[in-house]
Amino acid sequence: MALLVQKFGGTSVGDPDRIRGVADHVARCRRRGDQVVLVISAMGKETDELLRLAVDVSKTRPGREMDMLITGGERKACALVAMALNDLGVPAASFTGSQAGFITDATHMNAKILEVKPDRIREAVDQGIVPVVGGAQGVSIDRDITFLGRGGSDTTAVALAHALGADACELYTDVSGVFTTDPRVVSEARKMLTVSFDELLEMTATGCPKPAMRSVELARNYDVKLHVRSAFTWEPGTWVTKEDPAMEHAIVSAVTHDMGDAKLTVSGVPDRPGIAARIFRRLADHDINVDMIVQNVSAAGVTDISFTLPADQLATGIAVVDELRGEIGATGVTSDPNIARVSIVGAGMKSNPGVAATMFETLSAAGINIEMIQTSAIRLTCVVREDQAERAVQVLHQAFELHKG
Ligand code: ADP
Ligand code: ASP
Ligand code: MG
Repeated sequence: MALLVQKFGGTSVGDPDRIRGVADHVARCRRRGDQVVLVISAMGKETDELLRLAVDVSKTRPGREMDMLITGGERKACALVAMALNDLGVPAASFTGSQAGFITDATHMNAKILEVKPDRIREAVDQGIVPVVGGAQGVSIDRDITFLGRGGSDTTAVALAHALGADACELYTDVSGVFTTDPRVVSEARKMLTVSFDELLEMTATGCPKPAMRSVELARNYDVKLHVRSAFTWEPGTWVTKEDPAMEHAIVSAVTHDMGDAKLTVSGVPDRPGIAARIFRRLADHDINVDMIVQNVSAAGVTDISFTLPADQLATGIAVVDELRGEIGATGVTSDPNIARVSIVGAGMKSNPGVAATMFETLSAAGINIEMIQTSAIRLTCVVREDQAERAVQVLHQAFELHKG
């Protein structure tokens, strides 16, 4: 008998049939003898719709009210799932994040979990009741309802699995696991049977949407057994594992891409100490999340600095840098929203030379120009034109023979 935390959301609970399907699955798990705790996020695209509604109604959108609004999506979905379970004769009860013991800080729209006190959830399990917890929410130390941010239900599930000492945390989604690349871009993409935490973190940081990056970090830090799997076929999915130091690792395990970034270039800046510090301090003061940074070799004492940032922060980024222009003596600021990051990830990369060469040769043979390059021990990222990103993913997946397994 295992204690399982199972998370469902989006399309997996997108309509009444899907909700009944989830209830059926839970009933089957119970007949097998497992204890189940559910974490549910909003139905279909409801979170996007609520966000849009807020924009239509309000100019100011106070954080406190936004959190109350958004978490309503999860609250509705978890009550419906609990009803469907009761219909099948499975005793179930829904709980808000607050009732489930999620205490958070007061950062509205992106709250951090401070503590989980899952007493009521444990009591329910002991009484043979399936607790159905609203994901991505908690209550702040100021006693306000908080939202953990986009994808926060994955984080709720992992945190709850840790707090309950569950045997596994199962994140159900509309694909059958973590794939060697986005299956919408490469039809030959393969489901990975296992992936290491380190690899999965690099993947989620560079465009793989599932699971949410914060949940992977949390699971790694607390040693939670994670299983990413399908809410449609119910087949076994991908297990996320600790890296086994004794094993030989695949050189390249996955290819990812991310179209959500833009590039900003500050040109003609004096090449002297303190300039980069001022630019990036000012950007940080405006909460701008800079990713790749490239500084050219200087000619005649001046240089260019380019960096990438989330496209939705580009306008703020331009304003911040423009304001600094006079102070630092830069001659120009240019921006480019039409870029994409394409990455290869693999734990075996660090001990195998030639991976970068193969990546660059492959892109060059496909006529794809590389605009920026960034490396980590187990990842290589190239910035390319946005309209060439999918082609880049396809040729790299082929070149590293990821379809072969
Ligand atoms: P959900 O709707 O379940 O919250 P998303 O739609 O945000 O999840 O993300 C799931 C989608 O992510 C899948 O349908 C798949 O097309 C896409 N995806 C992209 N890259 C990968 C990958 N490497 N492995 C699995 N799925 C991926
Ligand atoms: N429903 C929220 C979102 O769409 C939280 C989640 O799904 O994890 O981001
Ligand atoms: Mg989806």
